[in-house]
Amino acid sequence: MSLHPVHGHAELRTTLATAHRAGTLPSALLLHGPRGVGKQRLALWIAQLDLCSSPSEMEPDCTCRSCRLAVRLEHPDIHWFFPLPRPKRAGSPEKMADALEAARFARIDDVRAAPLQPPAFETASGIYLAAARSLRKRAQSRPSMSPRQVFVIGDADRLVPQEASPEAANALLKLLEEPPADTRFVLTSSAPGALLDTIRSRTVPLLVRPLETGEVIDFLVATGVDVEAAETAARLGHGSIGRALGFLPDGDDPGPMETMRREAFDLLKAALSNHLSAGFEAGLARGVSGGRMLVPLLAELEIWMRDLAAVAAGHPDAVVNRDAVPWLTRKSRDLSIRPDVATRTLARVDEAALHARGNVNPQLLVAGLVADLQALLQGPRAQAGTPVKTHG
Ligand SMILES: [Zn+2]
Repeated sequence: MSLHPVHGHAELRTTLATAHRAGTLPSALLLHGPRGVGKQRLALWIAQLDLCSSPSEMEPDCTCRSCRLAVRLEHPDIHWFFPLPRPKRAGSPEKMADALEAARFARIDDVRAAPLQPPAFETASGIYLAAARSLRKRAQSRPSMSPRQVFVIGDADRLVPQEASPEAANALLKLLEEPPADTRFVLTSSAPGALLDTIRSRTVPLLVRPLETGEVIDFLVATGVDVEAAETAARLGHGSIGRALGFLPDGDDPGPMETMRREAFDLLKAALSNHLSAGFEAGLARGVSGGRMLVPLLAELEIWMRDLAAVAAGHPDAVVNRDAVPWLTRKSRDLSIRPDVATRTLARVDEAALHARGNVNPQLLVAGLVADLQALLQGPRAQAGTPVKTHG
């Protein structure tokens, strides 16, 4: 198997190819944009473009040796790094580095076997110091077959998430600061705000926009998904093929994104309930660890909040979660939700998402968030903890 062709982003690719021809492509690029929108695929495409023996003819499918190896993820001068779970029982730093490299190659094998995968939500993964050292070692050696080598670093904001040590980032920083000749770095991030300032300042940012819904539908249908399912997944996917894939059921499994959407809906229900204990109960439903899992969950909650505001403003056509329009309409009416509520609730969800990136107790975070949303959405009556009733 080989990578599927890059879908969409035509304008961006033209810009990149033009810069490449002119020799002005920066040596360190940062592709940022929504999760699952195809940033790492695009980064691998840049690597392919960079190493192709006849780049002017690369589109649509160059058959030069370099390109053939690149799309099979077998090019010895394209090095793809990404967050991985911390290996168990890796005593020494050398063993840790070996275990991470083995895990990296195993994951690349998985992608080669099944290039189209929905997002996976892993609680404890990162780009660890040992991986950054392996990367540096490779960067300091000569390319194997091409005149240059390219490093793709996916989710670069996940450098050393737990170690609270800037060392791994520093190993990478030194490289970005003084890149070895004939080396290019393409970093990607769906949370550029979480990148270290020093990394941000050494890379040229390039926004990767969401695709048109029609582009996502076409892509899914071309891979064999039936039209109706493709339309629903594409709408929920918000211009992101990766997200859309996560809304496609696989047997009894509703898909990872659909599971996340339903969990986020439970939070919305709690925020709209008039029980004082709703926040407490929502908190207890979470584990005591794995705060990072809350990041994608809160992103889904944001969409629910926007939908609620859309219904309150009389625009049910703008709702993403269309299956919930009748429910949202009823709740919005019963609780007299104000259309401007989105501004305040979204700021609160954003704040929670920021905390979720750090070391946080998910139970406390969710309990606090739901209680605050109750107050923002329903005013003092929810805070008072009594059924809605006027006194006097
Ligand atoms: Zn080629």
